Amino acid sequence: MEDCLFCKIIKGEVPSNKVYEDDLVYVFKDIAPAAPVHYLAVPKKHISSALEIDSHNSSYIAHIYEVIAKIAKDEGFGKDGFRVVNNCGELAGQTVFHIHFHILAGRELEWPAG
Ligand code: 5GP
Ligand code: ZN
Repeated sequence: MEDCLFCKIIKGEVPSNKVYEDDLVYVFKDIAPAAPVHYLAVPKKHISSALEIDSHNSSYIAHIYEVIAKIAKDEGFGKDGFRVVNNCGELAGQTVFHIHFHILAGRELEWPAG
């Protein structure tokens, strides 16, 4: 989608620090990390938010969670624990309207969030 920051990052038009990529998903480092590990996992298909997940695109979301499990195991933070966060809409603090899953690890994470 034109004028979408994360679509531009996926296409390489905006630089990013890539962590993982396949046909369906792109994972990169957050520009303002909130934890020692802070990645963003995004589908290569533009889905604006969790509100837009439906039977036509939910396979992207399922695949993102498979990739998150693989990264957590490969990088070793899976055994200590980590958090996956999706902010949906204004009140939740979503600022980029291309669905993304924050992967946070490397420190104790407080709960409840926000
Ligand atoms: P949200 O607030 O929408 O849940 O999360 C958006 C995230 O995108 C924020 O954590 C923010 O730091 C990150 N972000 C915003 N612009 C860029 C950018 O240009 N590059 C990268 N790597 N991350 C970005
Ligand atoms: Zn997009």
